[in-house]
Amino acid sequence: MTDSLVLVINSGSSSLKYQLVDTATGAAVASGLVERIGEADGIIAHTVDGETIEHSGPIADHAEGLRLAFDMFERTGHGLTSAGVAAVGHRVVHGGNVFYEPTLITDDVVAEISRLSTLAPLHNPPNVVGIESARALLPQVPHVAVFDTAFFHGLPAAASTYAIDIDVAKRHGVRRYGFHGTSHDFVSSRVAEFLGRDRADFNQIVLHLGNGASASAIERGKAIDTSMGLTPLEGLVMGTRSGDIDPGIVLHLRRSAELDVDAIDELLNRRSGLKGLSGVNDFRELQGLIDAGDEGAKLAYDVYIHRLRRYIGAYLIELGGADVITFTAGVGENSPGVRADALAGLTRFGIAVDPDRNTAKSREARVISPDGAEVTVLVVPTNEELAIARAAIRTSSSA
Ligand code: AMP
Repeated sequence: MTDSLVLVINSGSSSLKYQLVDTATGAAVASGLVERIGEADGIIAHTVDGETIEHSGPIADHAEGLRLAFDMFERTGHGLTSAGVAAVGHRVVHGGNVFYEPTLITDDVVAEISRLSTLAPLHNPPNVVGIESARALLPQVPHVAVFDTAFFHGLPAAASTYAIDIDVAKRHGVRRYGFHGTSHDFVSSRVAEFLGRDRADFNQIVLHLGNGASASAIERGKAIDTSMGLTPLEGLVMGTRSGDIDPGIVLHLRRSAELDVDAIDELLNRRSGLKGLSGVNDFRELQGLIDAGDEGAKLAYDVYIHRLRRYIGAYLIELGGADVITFTAGVGENSPGVRADALAGLTRFGIAVDPDRNTAKSREARVISPDGAEVTVLVVPTNEELAIARAAIRTSSSA
């Protein structure tokens, strides 16, 4: 057994992402994506050493998808059972009020994650299926669940409480949980490492702008607020999710458009955000449309930036000023335009972006504010797989 190799699994409703991570070097040894699970035209794409091999055909369920992935490992010389993995790390979306730490998976833990499905009906059930399939294939290896909500468990009550009937809220677990916690935790730690400072000595705002998007306010290493709430639907404008809306819209659509709950769920989660406003959810496509003069795309961009600036403003006040603002994830790491627009006109708050630094091509953590700026603005690549892999190693070796 290789004591630093961890298989990280992120199991969605019809897809399954995996990565074999070497925690000693931080490198991804191999990675893959199984898509269209349950359909006749399933596909698995497995990448090793920059080369991708594909297999297509029907993939009945997650267990078969994972079995095919294991075959790919065998075929490319990284057989998981022969080379061995020290642990399997599973991304689990909702830990509710139960799981605050990476947790060694037992039958009881699986049952509890399953029970939390009422809070995350789209996410926890496929997470459980992924866990069960992987445990069946690698029964001798410790499996660890890493929760997207964990980093935000300690949010102050004022930030985590919705102003609704408190008894109803308690009975149904209605509070703000926050998501993308693994990324916010990883990036804010990387920020401290990059700056050579202790995370407990300064305040940061982290902007995770990917297909899903969220912001967090981190005071001396502890999250004090975040933009996602009971579900990952609240907050920033996302690829296909609305982010914040007046809850009255749901009632109005229920009554006036006679949409049922599932139809509204689908509307807000899959047909809103950038996609709802412009027809595309991919930021590069959005930029292409804007360049071609598409007005819907321009409006989508403006709404996206408006919402982002609103959260940045709120978190600056909550923190009493931030020392560092960091952009991460697909859009945050790759779109200089978003970074410049998000922080435009804020010099009176000590916030500025240096145009040359902002547009310099790099995949590394870097400063994009001018020298001497009161607030340091950074771009820091996130790596949730590495964070999950490290947590899995830590948890399985201390068990
Ligand atoms: P993620 O969910 O972190 O993988 O981020 C996905 C989002 O990042 C998609 O909307 C992509 O269009 C966007 N993205 C990736 N590369 C770029 C790029 N070079 N410029 C702008 N957006 C990008």
